[in-house]
Amino acid sequence: MSKKPRVRFAPSPTGELHVGNARTALLNWLFSRHYRGEFVLRIEDTDRERTSKKLEGRILKELQWLHIDWDEGPGKPGAYGPYHQFERLDIYKEYLNKLISKDKVYPCYCTEEELAEERAKLLSMKQMPRYMGKCRNLTARERKELEKKGRKPAYRFKVEKDVVMFKDLIRGNMRFDCDSMGDFIIMRSNGIPAYNFAVVVDDHLMEISHVIRGEDHLSNTALQILLYRTLGFEPPSFAHHSLILGKDRTKLSKRHGSVSVSEFRRKGILPEALLNYLSLLGSSFGEGKEVCSVDEIVRDFSLERTGKSGAIFDEAKLNWLNGIYIRKYDLKELTEQLMPFITDAGYDCHSIKREWMYSVVDAVRYNLTDLSDIIHYIDIFFDDQYKLSDDAISLLKEDEALDVVKQVYDTLIHMPSRRNGIYDSVIKAVREKTGLRGRKLFMPIRAAVTGRLIGPELDKVFAVLGRESIIKRAERAIELAR
Ligand code: GLU
Repeated sequence: MSKKPRVRFAPSPTGELHVGNARTALLNWLFSRHYRGEFVLRIEDTDRERTSKKLEGRILKELQWLHIDWDEGPGKPGAYGPYHQFERLDIYKEYLNKLISKDKVYPCYCTEEELAEERAKLLSMKQMPRYMGKCRNLTARERKELEKKGRKPAYRFKVEKDVVMFKDLIRGNMRFDCDSMGDFIIMRSNGIPAYNFAVVVDDHLMEISHVIRGEDHLSNTALQILLYRTLGFEPPSFAHHSLILGKDRTKLSKRHGSVSVSEFRRKGILPEALLNYLSLLGSSFGEGKEVCSVDEIVRDFSLERTGKSGAIFDEAKLNWLNGIYIRKYDLKELTEQLMPFITDAGYDCHSIKREWMYSVVDAVRYNLTDLSDIIHYIDIFFDDQYKLSDDAISLLKEDEALDVVKQVYDTLIHMPSRRNGIYDSVIKAVREKTGLRGRKLFMPIRAAVTGRLIGPELDKVFAVLGRESIIKRAERAIELAR
């Protein structure tokens, strides 16, 4: 690539960041990082009724959480701003006037009702709904009269008989016949530009070299190319990736379950796991490798091998990947990420010593699929929270099991209180005294000490709890089993 590529992500802040949009952002970001180009964040906030600053703020937060940073955009001034479309209305007006003076657009006075009527009529005749050009050839007098009646015009682009062809970097050669398009609105009567127009003006002025977005925009691209041609702009390269699908192969939506980045964050998916999952979803540049660091993904990224076929979102796989990240995460970092979940479960994190928390997290991380799972394990480390489950009690009621716990108690009582590495000594002593090994030895100890039959590794639990607590727990278990 000769010139530094410039790409953009252009969300409309009308809702939470959907994983499909996050994937689009990610593919643009990876492309810019792979080719050492620039990544622009542009906010498409012209729909004043549906967009809000609050939603914009949430989108930015989720992008930052995913470690997707931008070189220009909100909070990052650049040479091509403003980066909010609503602050660029004068610019669109200027280009509208250019198109008016070239006679490439015309004012349209049709009301919503008239347009709906036309649409219904075409549909009833099994024809593609499109604008049939009612206002295209109005005389100056007719226009004036309509304006006198108080009608404010929108502006429509004149689509001529033509074909649009372009080579999509992911999908290959594309061809669109203009017959089915109809003259389309580029500026609404309230002075707000239509998406297709604003995007062309912005992508051109912001010198965007590659437009990477979902395949649902393919037909928009055809309209946009017509505008590029008429405005005399060089179009960027286009790449339309497939959309994320649910298991039933329809576009991933709320009825499939969680779909927004914030939902996954709140469930306790780590940003690195989601980034890894979304980058490789429906792509083949990973060469079948499933766990890749960001650096590896940036290094191996290939747009041509990205998102060609519909990608089925598999939450179970994301969870599996998340478990892997939880296991290999830096312990201190992981503990920090877990803190909000621990607080939510009702623990006062400030009063808990960090060092102690690290050892708890280290003990349970192998049992976690997502961060919120911590609430199922943390209680066993607090003497006042720890409870024995019914199956733990029934196991302890067996004589052989109870004997194991009694031996644990006995061994610990006779052990010097400040001794390190109590686990190995206890196991060795109890094994010798009872002659038991394997499950018969470990399950009763687990049941007594953690109150459950499954859970974190016992040596780590011993290390966290220490002698006094284990003595207390053994005593209690013996009492309950009687
Ligand atoms: N605001 C548009 C959207 O969110 C941007 C589409 C584009 O990338 O051109 O769908």
